[in-house]
Amino acid sequence: MKAVRFHTHGGPEVLRYEDAPDPVPAAGEALVRVRACALNHLDLWERRGLPRVTIPLPHISGSDVAGEVETSSIPDVPSGSRVMLQPGLSCGRCAACLSGRDNECPHYEVLGYRNHDGGYAELVKVPAQNLVRIPDHVDFAQAAAFPLTFLTAWHMLLTRGGLKDGDDVLVLAAGSGVGQAAIQIARLHGARVVATAGSDEKLERARALGANHVIHHHKQDIVEEIKRLTNRRGVDIVIEHVGEATWSKSVRALARGGRLVTCGATTGANGAIDLTALFAKQLSILGSYMGTKGELLEAARLLFAGRLTPVIDRRFPLSDAVSAQRRLEASGQFGKIVLDVP
Ligand code: ZN
Repeated sequence: MKAVRFHTHGGPEVLRYEDAPDPVPAAGEALVRVRACALNHLDLWERRGLPRVTIPLPHISGSDVAGEVETSSIPDVPSGSRVMLQPGLSCGRCAACLSGRDNECPHYEVLGYRNHDGGYAELVKVPAQNLVRIPDHVDFAQAAAFPLTFLTAWHMLLTRGGLKDGDDVLVLAAGSGVGQAAIQIARLHGARVVATAGSDEKLERARALGANHVIHHHKQDIVEEIKRLTNRRGVDIVIEHVGEATWSKSVRALARGGRLVTCGATTGANGAIDLTALFAKQLSILGSYMGTKGELLEAARLLFAGRLTPVIDRRFPLSDAVSAQRRLEASGQFGKIVLDVP
C-alpha cells in the first residue's frame, strides 16, 4: 500500500509518501480501506519526537479515520460497510473498560500513536469493536473530522466539567479542532459560550458556529472581557488546551465553584496556580484525555442527525501530507485539516 511514514524525527520534511507493507489484522481486528484521515496536534508532537516516549520507526500517524471495511469478523459490520474509527484502543477486559471508563484503561492507547500505525495510509487495522458505522449522507471527510476532537470536547464539557443548562463556558482557541467542537456541544447543552481567537475572521466564524460572545486574544484582555460579560462573576467552565500562554488567565476567569478542564498544553506544560484562589473560590482543576467508546457513540448520533457539524478547514491529498502538517503547524486553520485517500 501507499502510506506517509517518517523514519526519523524532525520537521515536516521527514514525512515520506512511499510504499509500505499492508497491515495484517490479528484475530478480532478489522482491516479498513482509508478514504479520509484528519490531522491532530498529536501527529506533530510524535513526528517531532517526545521526551520519554519511544515510537517504533518508521511510523504512520493518523488517529481520525473514515473508510470502508475490507475484512471484519463482526457480522453486523461486514465488508463494504462505511465506517469511522473510534481512536481509543483499550483492553476491553479490565474494571475500567467494563464499567464504561475505557479511557482510564491501563492499556489505553491511541490509534496512530506509539505502537499503532494510523490512517495516513491506504489501509489500517483496528480492533473490530472500534468500527462505528456511518450513514450514507455523512461523507468520509466529515466522518474523519469528527471522532477525536468531538469526543475530547464531549468528555471535557459533560463528563469532567459537569456542564449544566445555563452555565457560562469559555472556549479558548475557537479555530482549533477542540475549540470548534466545544462551542457546538456547549451550545447544544444550553450553555452561554464565550470563545477566543486571534483574528477577526476566526471570531466571525466562531460566532457563526454559535458562540454568544467572542474575544480577540491579541487585542483584548480575556479576564477583563469575561468579567465584563458576566457582571464580574466569571465563567463556570473553561475549556483549556493552550497551556502556559493562557493558563493563569484561565484560572482568573473562573467563577466561584468554577471548573477548569484541560486536555492539552500546546504552548508549554508549566502552569502555576494561586492556591489561595483555588480553595477560597472552590475551584476545580480537571485533566481530561479523549473519552469513552460510549461517549463517541452518543456524540455520533448528533453528527448523523446534523446537529453537530465538524468544520473542515482544508483538504489535501494523502501524498501532500507535508503541506497539510505545515498548515496545522502554522495555526492558520479554522477547524480540521483532512487528507483524502484516493
Ligand atoms: Zn481495559
